[in-house]
Amino acid sequence: MLRTATAIIDLEALSSNYRLVQTMSPNSKILAVLKANGYGHGLARIANALPAADAFGVARIDEALALRAAGIVKPIVLLEGFFAETDIDILAVNNLQTIVHNTQQLDAIINANLEKPLKVWLKIDTGMHRLGINPEQLAHFYRALSASKNVQQPIVLMSHLGCADEKGNLATSKQIALFNKLTDDLSIEKSLANSAGVLAWPESHYQWVRPGLLLYGVSPLPTGVAVDGILPVMTLQSSLIAIREINAGEAVGYGGAWVSDKKTTIGVVAIGYGDGYPRHASNGTPILINGRRVPLIGRVSMDMITVDLGNDKTDDVGDIATLWGKELPVEEIAEFATTIPYELLCNITRRVHIQLA
Ligand SMILES: *Cc1c(COP(=O)(O)O)cnc(C)c1O
Repeated sequence: MLRTATAIIDLEALSSNYRLVQTMSPNSKILAVLKANGYGHGLARIANALPAADAFGVARIDEALALRAAGIVKPIVLLEGFFAETDIDILAVNNLQTIVHNTQQLDAIINANLEKPLKVWLKIDTGMHRLGINPEQLAHFYRALSASKNVQQPIVLMSHLGCADEKGNLATSKQIALFNKLTDDLSIEKSLANSAGVLAWPESHYQWVRPGLLLYGVSPLPTGVAVDGILPVMTLQSSLIAIREINAGEAVGYGGAWVSDKKTTIGVVAIGYGDGYPRHASNGTPILINGRRVPLIGRVSMDMITVDLGNDKTDDVGDIATLWGKELPVEEIAEFATTIPYELLCNITRRVHIQLA
């Protein structure tokens, strides 16, 4: 049986990365971020494999409810808050925590009629200018939430870093300084660090760190900045389904976009953008076959890609091709596809088989 597109998920690697985060931020609790189907690794699968996590973070209420339906009882935080007023009852019934970042959410919580108070994380914009209340609004929001019978006390204060992947970037120092200035006299729990904050900004750790990418064994830092000890959780593989000889001057694939300058042997691998392999991966993107890197050639199709196996090949139909994973960092593939590893992981489609390592 040939292996079709398969994501091999190594849960031991996940545990090991989790322990590494613990050693990097020894005084912080860990909110493990599982949004977008656990960055493509499977939502409940990842949650169940992180028994030590102090809380889970998701972006949509549906993701939180899927975790509850899977029997996950740990605290779950909605990282963008709730979107509709009617969601509040769902939060209360399912014991979900929410971020508050705007006036609509504040009013909805204060005016709700809840049997049990909600746990709230108040998000302040410290310079990224995406979500969060303005610093001038903090006193008002803090007072209103602290006085509400619908809010479990104390709340948590948080913000998000926009440039933490660039070591030494002044924007991050400014964000941390502003967060400190705004929250110094409030001795309640605080949270600022994503994966890059965990790695590169120890002063951003506070009581809660919020790693996502790092747990999956992928570095948020620019390629070339080594992160010792992290282990990729996903290895994406498929197999060679055809091997063909072509002559110099012959074109391969849609649009005849790649033309061989020599007689060579090409291999066809059963994976394409229908599986989540990036269509924009450029010619030369490495693919691992029988222990050597061979270049992608021609356009990525929906179900197939083509590689140049070279002339001294000993490969056979059925041999395994690795697209990324342990011996081929997804960070590197992301560069060839002019994107980031986050997108490649999230884009894995339902057609891809999941196999535990
Ligand atoms: C996604 C997200 C994170 C995790 O980011 P990584 O870069 O994957 O570590 C942390 N905090 C918030 C608010 C997020 O939305």
